[in-house]
Amino acid sequence: MNMTTTEEDKPSQKLDRKSVHRDSVGILSIEGVRLDHLADAVGTPFYAYSSRAITNAYQDFRSALGPDIGICYAVKANGNLSIIALLAELGCGMDIVSEGELQRVVAAGARRDGVVFSGVGKARAEIEAALAAGIHQFNVESVAELELISAVAASHGVEAPVALRVNPDIDALSHDKISTGRKGDKFGISIDEIASLYPRASAMHGIRLVGLATHIGSQITDLEPYRKAYKRIAGLTRHLRDLGQSVTRLDLGGGIGIDYGSGFKLDLRDFASVIRETVGDLNAELTVEPGRRLVGEAGVLVAEVLYSKPHADFDIVIIDAAMNDLLRPAMYNAVHPAETVSPTACRPRKCRIVGPVCESSDAFGSFDHLPELSSGDLVAFLAAGAYGASMSSTYNARPLIPEVLVSDGQFAVIRRRQPVEDLLALERNPEWHSASSGSEFGVKAG
Ligand SMILES: *Cc1c(COP(=O)(O)O)cnc(C)c1O
Repeated sequence: MNMTTTEEDKPSQKLDRKSVHRDSVGILSIEGVRLDHLADAVGTPFYAYSSRAITNAYQDFRSALGPDIGICYAVKANGNLSIIALLAELGCGMDIVSEGELQRVVAAGARRDGVVFSGVGKARAEIEAALAAGIHQFNVESVAELELISAVAASHGVEAPVALRVNPDIDALSHDKISTGRKGDKFGISIDEIASLYPRASAMHGIRLVGLATHIGSQITDLEPYRKAYKRIAGLTRHLRDLGQSVTRLDLGGGIGIDYGSGFKLDLRDFASVIRETVGDLNAELTVEPGRRLVGEAGVLVAEVLYSKPHADFDIVIIDAAMNDLLRPAMYNAVHPAETVSPTACRPRKCRIVGPVCESSDAFGSFDHLPELSSGDLVAFLAAGAYGASMSSTYNARPLIPEVLVSDGQFAVIRRRQPVEDLLALERNPEWHSASSGSEFGVKAG
């Protein structure tokens, strides 16, 4: 499906709700900035994000959920400091999964007391850093982790605010690799164990037990898994309260799906209704943790065609972006909608778009709506704002690519292209090899 402007769309609405549009001469643009001009300015490949699309995505949550439900952005979706700062300025809290993300959030100027620390394997140093920062809440995923947090907090004479992450045994009906709430998944504490653990946890030194958390998966496009999971959380909350336990906060997780070209995504008002129906009458502080839905549709990855290899009825088109830049196709068989940046008069020709990395899985998908592509053409992959740049690597010694933020006709490079020298600079020759050459390789400083 084509996510650019079509006749049926009202242009103003289109401009508001989608990150990309075609300008008056047909060039793919973000908030009035042409992607071919960005390519000239920063080189290809690069990511570009629309600030307005991110702001709108946040406001959509806010208006669907009302003023009382907390929103914590799952930083792992896109941890660029400018993106964190933009969302923090809108009043968004932050959901982190590592000390590195804590440092990102602090560096970006977000409130530390709006930070929730999720993740199945928090190391002692990470727990200490989060306690020192004074975060809002730890979502705890095992008894062993609870005991460590208790010991660390008690030894510092503080109390850690803790919610227990419940594994509700629900299938999110999403991709296997991003389903997290089934029995046997590595995440959370089995719902059957919580009733006996909760009173024990609330009595532990250094622990201030505040409630429950859950997160059942990602790119969820069906409300039923949410409804089932939240009903289980509601039942568990009532049961714990009957036992005399205090449950004041419920963290309902993220996973809200976006439109990757099907034209369909989860409706936020329906999602909000499910929340109200299931846990709305419990008089608990509620929080959600969206990542993808806040930034996914706001971003594009732009690449240049290097070569085209003709086959009988399709072309293999090799571009300068690869799986190290956008891992989702290789990792999850995801297909991002593709568009050429400039309009061409060429007829559509079937193509398979691939990257230069030496793996057969380095492929972006097969497309039959694109014009015949040749060297120098620019191709944009849409809905690439989440789990794109943040999952990128330097495989094949390909440096990290630039990220550009666009706002109302202006743009800024919010991460510059990584110099290759930076990659090499971390590496050292072992002493036993370096007698003649010294421990430094012949790396020129960037
Ligand atoms: C990844 C993650 C999220 C965000 O998931 P999205 O699909 O990006 O909304 C929220 N909470 C936790 C605990 C996560 O691990």
